[in-house]
Amino acid sequence: TKDEPTQVMAESESSEEIDEDAIGFKFEDTSNIEVPKLLIDQVLGQEHAVEVVRKAASQRRHIMMIGTPGTGKSLLAKAMAELLPKEELKDILVYPNLEDLNNPKIREVPAGKGREIVMAHKMEARKKAQARNMLMMLFVLGIIIYSYFVAQLLWGIIAGIMILMLTRQFLPKEEMMIPKMAVSNYDKEQAPYIDATGAHAGALLGDVRHDPFQSGGLETPAHDRVEAGDIHKAHKGVLFIDEINTLRLESQQSLLTALQEREYPITGQSERSSGALVKTEPVPCDFIMVSAGNLDAVQKMHPALRSRIKGYGYEVYMRDSMEDSPENRKKLVRFVAQEVVRDGHIPHFDEGAVEDIIREARRRAGRKGHLTLKLRDLGGLVRVAGDIAHSEGAPITTSEHVIAAKRIARSIEQQLADSYLDQRKEYESFMRKGSAIGRVNGLAVMGGDSGIVLPIVSEVTPALSGAEGRIIATGKLKTIAKEAVLNVSAVIKNMTGTDVSRHDVHIQFVGTYEGVEGDSASVSIATAVISAIEKIPVDQTVAMTGSLSVRGDVLPVGGVTYKIEAAARAGMKIVIIPKANEADVLIEKAYRDKIQIIPVSTIAEVMEHSLVGPRKNTIIEKLKNITKLSFDIPEVS
Ligand code: ADP
Repeated sequence: TKDEPTQVMAESESSEEIDEDAIGFKFEDTSNIEVPKLLIDQVLGQEHAVEVVRKAASQRRHIMMIGTPGTGKSLLAKAMAELLPKEELKDILVYPNLEDLNNPKIREVPAGKGREIVMAHKMEARKKAQARNMLMMLFVLGIIIYSYFVAQLLWGIIAGIMILMLTRQFLPKEEMMIPKMAVSNYDKEQAPYIDATGAHAGALLGDVRHDPFQSGGLETPAHDRVEAGDIHKAHKGVLFIDEINTLRLESQQSLLTALQEREYPITGQSERSSGALVKTEPVPCDFIMVSAGNLDAVQKMHPALRSRIKGYGYEVYMRDSMEDSPENRKKLVRFVAQEVVRDGHIPHFDEGAVEDIIREARRRAGRKGHLTLKLRDLGGLVRVAGDIAHSEGAPITTSEHVIAAKRIARSIEQQLADSYLDQRKEYESFMRKGSAIGRVNGLAVMGGDSGIVLPIVSEVTPALSGAEGRIIATGKLKTIAKEAVLNVSAVIKNMTGTDVSRHDVHIQFVGTYEGVEGDSASVSIATAVISAIEKIPVDQTVAMTGSLSVRGDVLPVGGVTYKIEAAARAGMKIVIIPKANEADVLIEKAYRDKIQIIPVSTIAEVMEHSLVGPRKNTIIEKLKNITKLSFDIPEVS
């Protein structure tokens, strides 16, 4: 049947090889991949959000998007603007109000019409001004000629000039009556998309400029100083605000009013400026608001604004990763094509280069069988690789370019981790050979994507007589150390007969730095403590990571791929990881031959692979008996 070949393939491939089979369909390069015209069709992995955006666009509802930066929130907001009818677009004009100059009038006209009106007014003004100037010149000329015959010429000229100046002051100026175009949608292809992220009140709500010459004929009329805000520019379109919670509360309050009224007058925002005297009639601002942020944003947002969105709109959670299926890999191929097209300068990617990008998407997902959806960063990698290809004059971006890009486009944390590594190589603060009692090469992650070797040293001494034993560790790591020791204390007691609570356990993290996340150090701490109590040395070519349960099970941790790579870079030979993390390992080819990965599920296995010397086996036997229970419990997945 048709299914057979795929089945055979699936069977013949180990999990390691699925990694190699990156895409699952053939193509020459990304120039053969069709890029959808509409932005909404370009969004990938956020099917739920796409559905909501479509629905909200047709019903004109607000949306709140919660999720990690770079997952497509602003892209979706832009896409929404494309879906809105452009027939409804309007121009907004500001007219002087002759009854009250400080209360300019507002008129809304169909898009494109505003320009015509302003032009017509300008023509009119010019004509009037020309006629007036003509008359004036004739009049002045008359006076000069008259004075030539009747009196002295000089007096005539002086009189002429004075009359000219006076009339310039007091005659009405036609230019002052020309309406100002506050919002123009002339020739717009689509409904406006306005990004008001981080906008201050004036930019968001509109402002009236200060006039330094408030009188004396040089002043700019009030209506001419009116500037529309983002809420007005977004009229009939989309207003996008990221990190909504960072908007000042007053601004959030005003935003709420604007949402409710669908119009909001413009007034000067700086109190002591002449602009503050001016307040226009209400200016239309019938926009759809797409707000975004992380989970924190929801809690810190103005409650009334939040409930308005809840009541009259949708809330969507953005996904961080998607399943690693052929269908989704195909979407990532399209993503690369999209980014190339969007950039406009970089060459297309061949199949090998796309495979590397997809492999990176797997690594960055940090979760087995998933692809990352933090696509802004992945797009960054695409651009750097493309730039390298471009600078070499290559017609196509290849795997080599992507690999070079990965080296260059490293995060700050990765660069920092490497510089620590260099420093420490100088000081030799970690050992890479031999064995040592109470010393373990732990592994940690910095900034989410950078591994670092974190040596741990432990010493155990009897507590002072009568006193309760203490766990002595420094800084933030104290809590982790405490938990780790408490978790294994039962195991240790059973195994060695030592009651940890009657000992002082010293734990030192050698050369720890700010920003190191040490949650997964408990297996390393336990190993160091056991080694210290039993005086059995630990193999220093081994590095390890894992979290420990009270029963001695080794539980999964985050960032294994980065940790293994860090161990390999530091010159370790073996790395012990939790069995449950086995499928998360997606290390770069370059490291594969350098380091042996041993997945374990109990602390006994950790000992087996890390302790050295003759007494090792008795300990392991004892440990096995203690943690036997955990072998019998089926794994929950
Ligand atoms: P956010 O607003 O969530 O921080 P953006 O929408 O600004 O992220 O994403 C930045 C860029 O990353 C987009 O312009 C697009 O090129 C790419 N991108 C992010 N998420 C997606 C997605 N889900 N589908 C396609 N491209 C995406």
